[in-house]
Amino acid sequence: MDRHTVFIGIDGLDYKIIDYLYSRGELKGFRILIEEGVSGFVKTYVPALSPAIWTSYATGLNMFKHRVFDFVERDSITMKEVIHSSKVLKWRSFWDYCSPHGISSIVVNYPLTYPPYPIRGVMVSGFPSPVQEIVTYPDHLASKLQRIFPSYRVEYIPSGGIGSVIGKAIESIVQRYGLWSYLVERIEWGVSAIVFTELDRVQHRVYGVRKYRSELTKLYKCLDRVVYSILKYVDKYDADLVVVSDHGFEELDYIVSIPCLLGLRTDFISDMLYKLMRSKSMQKLFYKLPRILREVMYSYIGSRSTRKIEDVVMLNNFMLKTCKPQAYKRFLERVGLYGERVFDKVFLFKEYMDFIRKLHELDSIKGCIDDNILVLIPRQGIELSREPSYKCIYRSSSKTGTHYSRKVFHGAFYAYGPNTKKSKERVYVSVLDIAPTILGLQ
Ligand SMILES: [Zn+2]
Repeated sequence: MDRHTVFIGIDGLDYKIIDYLYSRGELKGFRILIEEGVSGFVKTYVPALSPAIWTSYATGLNMFKHRVFDFVERDSITMKEVIHSSKVLKWRSFWDYCSPHGISSIVVNYPLTYPPYPIRGVMVSGFPSPVQEIVTYPDHLASKLQRIFPSYRVEYIPSGGIGSVIGKAIESIVQRYGLWSYLVERIEWGVSAIVFTELDRVQHRVYGVRKYRSELTKLYKCLDRVVYSILKYVDKYDADLVVVSDHGFEELDYIVSIPCLLGLRTDFISDMLYKLMRSKSMQKLFYKLPRILREVMYSYIGSRSTRKIEDVVMLNNFMLKTCKPQAYKRFLERVGLYGERVFDKVFLFKEYMDFIRKLHELDSIKGCIDDNILVLIPRQGIELSREPSYKCIYRSSSKTGTHYSRKVFHGAFYAYGPNTKKSKERVYVSVLDIAPTILGLQ
């Protein structure tokens, strides 16, 4: 009989919350995974940034090899900023290994699968995507799927009050699950992968806020019901199932603007305007202003807050590169002022590679060695930002959760199926183990 394997990724699923709900007997799907399969933790990366982790889940390669550190990155040679797409990946994901062996895959909403590309099976591309509508390989499927799932959007963006945030997140999860099950029932498949990103986006807004706890629980229970529904397919096809998350969550205390630490302080007014401009309602209002006024405002904000960092460049949210060592010196002096409060570690790139090597118990790591890169690991509750700001350290007005520190780099891990061992003992797996395991099950 043909083998079947299902991969479910849930961005930001916190095992502490699952454990809590399980202990109260409130879960159906995860209860089966915990009691009849095996569960534990995934060692991912520090900082736990989703793009690096999902790419390692897909490829089985460490981040120095696949070189995806963040969603947006500056090429360390050309210094051009790029938003990553499927084109950036030079390595194969587990579904790519399946195609030449005649095994079909259904891949739904996996990060960095835009633009979708030819595989044996179907690919519905995920975040980041320039469009919100369904895009697929083969491309003729997209319009049909969008007709059947009219409110399906690639990226769920929380907006409005807590009720609407949770309601829309649930709707988005249900649509994604619906689309996945529609495909699974109609297309031949050996491997299928689906990733849910809603929980992460919601938790950035509400994590740790007591009054939102019951609302957040609703979302966990919705995901639990989805897992339960997927388990019905898993049993029907006698499939193996792997469920992972990329990291846990922590309460956000402060945001730290790296450009500000680098000395790129913006003035108060342009900072206010800059922040206002990022809110949707202000943008609507802004477009009602006369054009000339808009242009004046734009040029003012632009000249004040997007000046080029000439001697130190941020490669992404946690790496700095310089051509001038004295610029580091200046930066470290400034860091000295805040160091205790902000940073857990400031690594040279070589030291950072060694840190990750030890974390994953690897013999050696080969990859991009660049000693002019500084890696910044913040303390618990601190998020680093690429945004220029008037203040170097500030409280966020809209975010309450984050996942940057060493405290939260453990993702959740669950597996279940005929080829999976049952165990009450919690296991530790590495982010690098998942792709080889899925391929081994085929
Ligand atoms: Zn996140």
